[in-house]
Amino acid sequence: MEIKERIEQLVKILNQANREYYENDNPTLSDNEYDALMDELIHLENDHPEYVLDDTPTKKVGFTTANQSTFAKVTHKNKMMSLGDVFSQEELRSWVEKITDEYGPIEFSVECKIDGLAMSLWYNHGKFIQAVTRGDGTVGEDVSVNVATIASIPKTIAYMDELEVRGEVYMPKLALASLNTTRSAQGLPKFANCRNAAAGSIRLQDANEVSKRGLEGFWYHVPMASSMGIKTHLESLEWIHSLGFTTNSMNIKAYSFEQIWKRIEELTELRDQLPYDIDGVVIKVNDLSIQQQLGFTIKVPRWAIAYKFPAQQVQTTVKDIFCTVGRTGKVTPNAALQPVQLAGSTVSFATLHNEDMIHLKDIRVNDQVMVRKAGDIIPEVVCSLPKYRDHTSTPYVFPTHCPVCGMPLHRFEDEAAHYCVNADCPARVVASIAHFASRDAMNIEGLGEKRVEQFHQEGLLNTLSDIYLLDQKKEELIHLDKFGAKSTDKLLSAIEHSKSNSLEKLLFGLGIRQVGAKQARALALHFKTMDALMKATREELNALNDVGEITADAICTFFEDDQNQRLIESLKQAGLNMVYTGVTVESSPFTGLTIVLTGSLQYYDRNSATELLQTLGAKVTSSVSKSTDLVIYGQSAGSKLTKANNLGIRAMSEDEFMEMVEPYR
Ligand code: NAD
Repeated sequence: MEIKERIEQLVKILNQANREYYENDNPTLSDNEYDALMDELIHLENDHPEYVLDDTPTKKVGFTTANQSTFAKVTHKNKMMSLGDVFSQEELRSWVEKITDEYGPIEFSVECKIDGLAMSLWYNHGKFIQAVTRGDGTVGEDVSVNVATIASIPKTIAYMDELEVRGEVYMPKLALASLNTTRSAQGLPKFANCRNAAAGSIRLQDANEVSKRGLEGFWYHVPMASSMGIKTHLESLEWIHSLGFTTNSMNIKAYSFEQIWKRIEELTELRDQLPYDIDGVVIKVNDLSIQQQLGFTIKVPRWAIAYKFPAQQVQTTVKDIFCTVGRTGKVTPNAALQPVQLAGSTVSFATLHNEDMIHLKDIRVNDQVMVRKAGDIIPEVVCSLPKYRDHTSTPYVFPTHCPVCGMPLHRFEDEAAHYCVNADCPARVVASIAHFASRDAMNIEGLGEKRVEQFHQEGLLNTLSDIYLLDQKKEELIHLDKFGAKSTDKLLSAIEHSKSNSLEKLLFGLGIRQVGAKQARALALHFKTMDALMKATREELNALNDVGEITADAICTFFEDDQNQRLIESLKQAGLNMVYTGVTVESSPFTGLTIVLTGSLQYYDRNSATELLQTLGAKVTSSVSKSTDLVIYGQSAGSKLTKANNLGIRAMSEDEFMEMVEPYR
């Protein structure tokens, strides 16, 4: 689609979404989908200012209230802005740095982003006068009668001049649960979330009904504060608190990006336990004179930003379903998705696991689906939303033949996956060579999947042992497309270097079924040499801690195979080291401890630190629990360190760790 057309389409979709969200309190897009589309539009408009439309939602706050609204229109004396938003640590860091580069180290206020609706309250002669919604930022609606029913909002205050206080009207989680129970009993549709329920309630025609909805308010802004001589934002909140306004006790001061990020991590963990919904964290410059100097854009203040929590689940479209073949021949179906923001990254593909899962969830091409990150890493399709389908939709038919080599697929008894059993299938060959060369295995830099694929197509790599014959084909390599002499030399030297790897790297690289990096290490530590391992019986293998019956069987089956024995022999001939060369430490201060690494480490990357600790007899896990013995923390350590401190678990800085491991390095 042409860029101009896409911009027109996005403007139309987003304006429609705004109407449904702000006017009808009935959104049809999820917030994350809306945010992703808005982000796309902002980028396109920045790159192509010539196509920016007059009615673009990127330059507008909220939505212009409908003419038929029964609430009186009120023009705000001071415009009510929205907030700029960021979705990642990097974006937030650059926002903070832009300000600190100009003003030096300054104070920030870090606050919960309450998920309700913005409200402006007016007082004069010590009395509550009016409450106005944000509307389009210039004109809002007078909802004073309804807001007056919120008991916690002071109706009289000990300040006689005119005063505007801004904040968020919200519905507590418990109030939403009870409202939805009542609505269900009455056969009425439930509210999807606290924000919609609060916005829907505040615009009801019956103030008596509003008073039963349990609405609350947090007050977070005093527009006239600096003209009253108040110096900082947080002082202005203390002052309104003393006047009787509810301010959020979770607000804190921070002096650096690291402190802000630490607080974000804490709030991310605490979020579910709070009695109200928050959809992010707001960071504000505390000094009001700096706020004034920074000023506003057409839509947002430059002195504040909202960090939005990553979505746990988002809605998007399945554009296609396709299958990939792994090194074991396992066929995995995947969904190609309309790209969408999820948990801090853009997701374009998601796994569909296997045929049964596709049928169980009835996922079809062109379906609207919900996607989430499984274990926060691999995105997966949670369910399809059949209500959005049209009559042309048909169930997905799983392929009967390998999409790469065309051989019939096989499904083993008791297995959900299909397999391509052709050992020469190009997909399998490429994937196993790329695995062998990967970082955790033989660590041959420059031999990633794309390069292996190219070499395979050129007939240079067909088996693992071919890697060690590449030095005899230097001339051919140099003349390959996009390669050249420098890359060839680098690659050949990485290959040569890999020959001296310790045994566990080779064992993992061989791709023996059930043998991951952990099992490979345990086998290498115990048997010390390839020969000893190859002679081990099923019983001997099974006696090891990390090796169960199935793994023991898989290892024996692998070494019994003639082809694999020939492979090991040719690798030996090529000069590969076949013994364990890692340090074996019988007893160290870390032996037997369960350790968690957190924060960014200066001297080690995570993998090397983990490897070192494992060599020293420790178990390294990813999350802090009661069974954690020690947390080793680097810079910007966040929630894991906090949790460790709360649980009374011993914590050690990276510097202390470096001192303690010195004798073992
Ligand atoms: P916003 O909700 O992203 O952020 C601005 C608002 O945050 C402020 O107006 C204020 O009401 C609120 N806020 C909460 N706590 C605050 C605090 N401590 N300090 C300052 N402000 C605080 O921006 P917006 O313009 O109100 O709404 C845009 C967002 O609404 C979108 O990013 C999207 O998530 C959602 N939206 C969704 C749809 C949809 O179809 N799902 C449509 C329109 C908008």
